[in-house]
Amino acid sequence: MSVQNVLNTIKENSIQFVDFRFVDLAGRAHHITLPATEVDEDTFVNGVAFDGSSIAGFRGIEESDMVMMPDTEAAYVDPFTDHPTLNIMCNIHTPDGDRYERDPRSIAQKAEEYLQKSGVGTAAFFAPESEFFIFDDVRYESSMHTSSFTVDSEEAAWNTNRKEEGGNLGFKVGVKGGYVPVAPIDTQQDIRSEMVRLMQESGLRVERHHHEVATAGQAEINFRFDTLTKTADNLLKYKYIVHNVARQYGKTATFMPKPLFGDNGSGMHVHQSIFNGDTPLFWEKGAYANLSKMALNYIGGILHHAPALIALTNPSTNSFKRLVPGYEAPVNLVFSKGNRSAAVRIPVAAVTPKGCRIEFRTPDSTANPYISFAAMLLAGLDGIKRGIDPTALGYGPFDKNIYDLSDEEKREIRSVPGTLDEALDALEADYEFLTEGGVFTKDFVENYVSLKRAEAKAVSIRVHPHEYSLYYDC
Ligand code: GLU
Ligand code: MG
Ligand code: MG
Repeated sequence: MSVQNVLNTIKENSIQFVDFRFVDLAGRAHHITLPATEVDEDTFVNGVAFDGSSIAGFRGIEESDMVMMPDTEAAYVDPFTDHPTLNIMCNIHTPDGDRYERDPRSIAQKAEEYLQKSGVGTAAFFAPESEFFIFDDVRYESSMHTSSFTVDSEEAAWNTNRKEEGGNLGFKVGVKGGYVPVAPIDTQQDIRSEMVRLMQESGLRVERHHHEVATAGQAEINFRFDTLTKTADNLLKYKYIVHNVARQYGKTATFMPKPLFGDNGSGMHVHQSIFNGDTPLFWEKGAYANLSKMALNYIGGILHHAPALIALTNPSTNSFKRLVPGYEAPVNLVFSKGNRSAAVRIPVAAVTPKGCRIEFRTPDSTANPYISFAAMLLAGLDGIKRGIDPTALGYGPFDKNIYDLSDEEKREIRSVPGTLDEALDALEADYEFLTEGGVFTKDFVENYVSLKRAEAKAVSIRVHPHEYSLYYDC
């Protein structure tokens, strides 16, 4: 959309407010709202000022002035506000007019520019499968359902059904029993359908929705792939709509990776491929999983850099509670066609040359999509540049169920980091691939690591309820 088109949209839709939004390091959206009467061509040249010192991990108070620069391509009418409002996603600039080096959206765009400059292809496509839970809006109660008081799956089931204790326990979803049953077992079809309706109204092309594997309330909605920055914008829109529709229904939605101990967590598998114009570059008919050498090298880059990459794709202490064996979340750094226990899966069912892609299954939705998609692309491009052969490095292909292997066979396989701190150690030791083309800076990585170390520390110094089970009666 040109600036003129946006101004026309404002007029034609009787828009009363324009909401300028940017994203912080954690991937959360923030906004400042202007009356539409205050928005003209100049707004798109000069931007909208805000205080960068009040956003965690951005600027100090002594250099706090920052500017939101609206991207007219990323505008949509807000489906929730009482007063007609147009939301516009913005980049963050310094007062000098430069792209701010810690702005996640600028980083995503720089990664796309680097891909084009590298000559590898013209566009990288991304499609995240962002799972989430819908819970009743009773904070205390949902916290009772977390790992704190549960030690195994039976206890998790007991916790989940606690509300109905003494009542009718029929038509309830058991632990890991939630994959696609119809109503009345699935009680959330209407909420998900309403989410999808508003996503479509807001310009997302939604492909399907369903109940996920975990006990009552885990959901997944899939929207169509697009280029890197557009997909990150789409994911922000997706989360905004999920959170707000849940609220309208008296529920809350959470994307945290492991809200329930003893049951499946929520992942954000990310499908990715590279094209040159209309030509898909990951396809080679007859090769293993019909994957081209370029695709294999891309996988090599992802797996080789995975320990560091995971600091960006799984950036919370909770992320590592999901990355444990037995819950469809990958723990092993291998690739495979079809196999859901591998970190990189190559979908093979009903795949056309243009649909040929790799699926990195490790990420979760605590990842900032702009930062994590950019980092995955850079890891893959590094694999292509250096011709990293994942098979020569022992990453597979591995078509067995890895969960069933003997301990000796498992010893050959590398695992994901076990904690956020381990992933941060790996990132500190391996981040040069992120600085290629000036996409990420050393300053970004250092600032990010210190913020995340503080987060890990804040969690580790708190007394955990499970410590009472272990130690109270000592
Ligand atoms: N919820 C699983 C995860 O944590 C994935 C289930 C699926 O394959 O869709 O990654
Ligand atoms: Mg899923
Ligand atoms: Mg998947």
